[in-house]
Amino acid sequence: MQLHNKVVIITGASSGIGEAAARLFAEEGAKLVLGARRRETLERIAGEIVGKGGEAIAVAGDVCDVGYAEQLVATALDRFGRLDCGFNNAGMTGEAVAIPDMTEENWSLTLATNLTSAFHAAKHQIPAMLKSGGGSLIFTSSFVGYSAAFPGMGAYAASKAGLIGLVQVLATEHGAKGVRANALLPGGTRTEMAGNIDEEPERLAFLNSIHALKRIADAREIAEAALFLASDRSSFMTGSAMVVDGGNSINKV
Ligand code: NAD
Repeated sequence: MQLHNKVVIITGASSGIGEAAARLFAEEGAKLVLGARRRETLERIAGEIVGKGGEAIAVAGDVCDVGYAEQLVATALDRFGRLDCGFNNAGMTGEAVAIPDMTEENWSLTLATNLTSAFHAAKHQIPAMLKSGGGSLIFTSSFVGYSAAFPGMGAYAASKAGLIGLVQVLATEHGAKGVRANALLPGGTRTEMAGNIDEEPERLAFLNSIHALKRIADAREIAEAALFLASDRSSFMTGSAMVVDGGNSINKV
């Protein structure tokens, strides 16, 4: 059990990578506070985990709301008495539109969801982790904005690149007290964010082709990397941009 008795907040836990992480972390003994906007879905997932003997509580909310990060931490402390890890994973792509045509609203919402939410998460999770003797902050970044660019993804790329700068500073600010901070950079992954990829053969073929493995990931494969960052097995890892991208970043053929 790699996360035995560790208390973990996971956002974006109602689908995709966050849901896969919730199920995997529960199997590894974690006590979970699950966050996302879809209350019923989140409660169903938490219920299934509890039904299998795990521990999970659903706290529905919007990571753009300033009070939500605090609420998630308060729930972890009230319910489980400590906080060991925050897997800050909720995210959205925003509208795919070139910068001259992008609305202020799209830019602001994408940055608020993907980057400003990380500020709020860190602000509230770090004091709780310090009281627990240390912890692991994980932020889901992306290959987009790091090793690849696509037209129309300006807000998304900027937000995901911003997370990498943020973890570097967080790592230096709190490393001496045992708080680690890392960015997780998935390659293309089969989740709701990828849309109906299996019904769009041309788009799927393109996405497959840009990875050295010539396929995209299943959410569980990315969750396995998050598990490593959450667990003590990554105890000497901090400030990193951890690429889990099927060779997307080095692929040129
Ligand atoms: P997904 O759409 O299945 O999951 C996104 C999750 O975030 C959902 O639970 C959604 O409800 C939640 N969410 C979105 N906006 C929210 C908000 N404002 N408040 C609360 N919750 C919110 O997609 P996914 O692929 O599992 O995405 C997880 C993370 O992985 C995202 O940060 C995404 O940018 C990143 N990522 C995905 C891919 C990919 O190809 N799927 C690649 C690289 C990075």
